[in-house]
Amino acid sequence: MKVLVIGGGAREHALCRSLSLDPEVTALHCAPGNAGIAEVAELHPVDALDGTAVARLATELEAGLVVVGPEAPLVAGVADAVRGAGIPCFGPSREAAELEGSKAFAKAVMAAANVPTARSYVCTTPEQIDEALDAFGPPYVVKDDGLAAGKGVVVTADLAVAREHALGCDRVVIEEFLDGPEVSLFAITDGETVLPLQPAQDFKRALDNDEGPNTGGMGAYSPLPWADPKLVDEVLETVLQPTVNELRRRGTPFSGLLYAGLAITGRGVRVIEFNARFGDPETQVVLARLKTPLARVLLAAAEGDLAVLPPLTWRDDAAVTVVVASHNYPDTPRTGDPIEGLAEIAEQDAPDAYVLHAGTRRDGDTVVSAGGRVLSVTATGKDLTQARERAYTAVSRIRLAGSQHRTDIAREAAETAEAAETAGA
Ligand code: AMP
Repeated sequence: MKVLVIGGGAREHALCRSLSLDPEVTALHCAPGNAGIAEVAELHPVDALDGTAVARLATELEAGLVVVGPEAPLVAGVADAVRGAGIPCFGPSREAAELEGSKAFAKAVMAAANVPTARSYVCTTPEQIDEALDAFGPPYVVKDDGLAAGKGVVVTADLAVAREHALGCDRVVIEEFLDGPEVSLFAITDGETVLPLQPAQDFKRALDNDEGPNTGGMGAYSPLPWADPKLVDEVLETVLQPTVNELRRRGTPFSGLLYAGLAITGRGVRVIEFNARFGDPETQVVLARLKTPLARVLLAAAEGDLAVLPPLTWRDDAAVTVVVASHNYPDTPRTGDPIEGLAEIAEQDAPDAYVLHAGTRRDGDTVVSAGGRVLSVTATGKDLTQARERAYTAVSRIRLAGSQHRTDIAREAAETAEAAETAGA
């Protein structure tokens, strides 16, 4: 199978890494890719948002499968263009991707499918905004209705800050604050059958102890030692399957990756948001644990054959990803700095720890930073403690001027798992 992956972040590097290890994949291509992906796939300088150009490239390459990584191409209809050219594509149609592209649409689908989520108002005028803020009280949750790469959401106890963010949006969703730990649960679906993956947790805030501004994600881990083992089954039944059924009923079936961002509240599981694609950085840890070769699973979703696929198999290992971000991320990230230490990690830490590239490019013989999030350092181990140690050992070898990373990724979860082990022993 010849596969073309669209995108150029650490999520796409994780996808390409898994696909490159799959014996069924005979050729692997990526557009536009990055310096790390170039080591496992052939890169093509094609605009990921241009459906016509992507479909033409896929045709030229005789691709048997196209996998769309990021949300923006999906919302722009790239998956439709590829399917229009007769090539199987993993990723929802433009219409189904509205589940991520519009928070108001997602709320409407959830209401129709009876999926538990935060109560909310969609506001377009200052009067509606004030009424909604007043109705819920602090902490305020204010979400820009459009795509904002995880950065259009403000959660604050400060009414003035909440109001200012809301007034800056054309359309805004104001909702009830959900208290409780968050879980990211991915499911692969062909529009009918839903195959949940293993749950993960990510860290959205820039600084340790969940302080600082919201980011695209600073780290992740899987499995979740503190979660109810029945969580996945429960979410499949109350969230994932009803949502997929509702979208099919509306005539806009969702095939691809359905990502449920969940809050585990005292009153049960609630959906915080849906995304229409693999999450970054959770994909890095989820795929690190997946044993089943990836290509056939993604192709089955693209072709509507998931019902006949054997069950997915998973490693017992734990996985941890630590994101290394550039100076001043997320505000005004500085780029163009050389990155050193990558070869040392490949020599001394692989295969237990490895580096997935996010914003990087090659400048002659050196790899330089080219984005806010630069690297996703990923490690596996027999438990979260070992996976953490390996990930942070690898992070310590990276030299990138002004870079930042969190030091507490998966720390609490590793402690919880150790305490449970001690209690059980
Ligand atoms: P979203 O883009 O909707 O995932 O929001 C980004 C982050 O804001 C989430 O991961 C949560 O940490 C936080 N958030 C969003 N909605 C809520 C809510 N209703 N209650 C509490 N926190 C929220």
